[in-house]
Amino acid sequence: MTDPEWDNICRRCGECCFEKIIDADGTIYHTRIACRYLDIVTRECKVYHKRFKTGEECIRLTPEVVREAVWLGDDCAYVQWLRATSKPHKT
Ligand code: SF4
Repeated sequence: MTDPEWDNICRRCGECCFEKIIDADGTIYHTRIACRYLDIVTRECKVYHKRFKTGEECIRLTPEVVREAVWLGDDCAYVQWLRATSKPHKT
């Protein structure tokens, strides 16, 4: 998959750009505190092409990261893509 193809999976909801709190027992709390670079109306990143250089801890999503990122919601297009394309485990 090319980088543009991977980027096009994202549906630009911006939910990953809101802070989450994960407590000691692993419960994830979604907050309405947005990254300062998220346009909360359009839900687009205002510094998309240099987002990894802003110091805001923006994480590059890859299939491996998405697989481990429990803080991504079930509605995330990458989470849904991963579920749709993953082979079921044999038991
Ligand atoms: S939560 Fe998923 S689909 Fe929504 S903007 Fe973030 S990466 Fe894209």
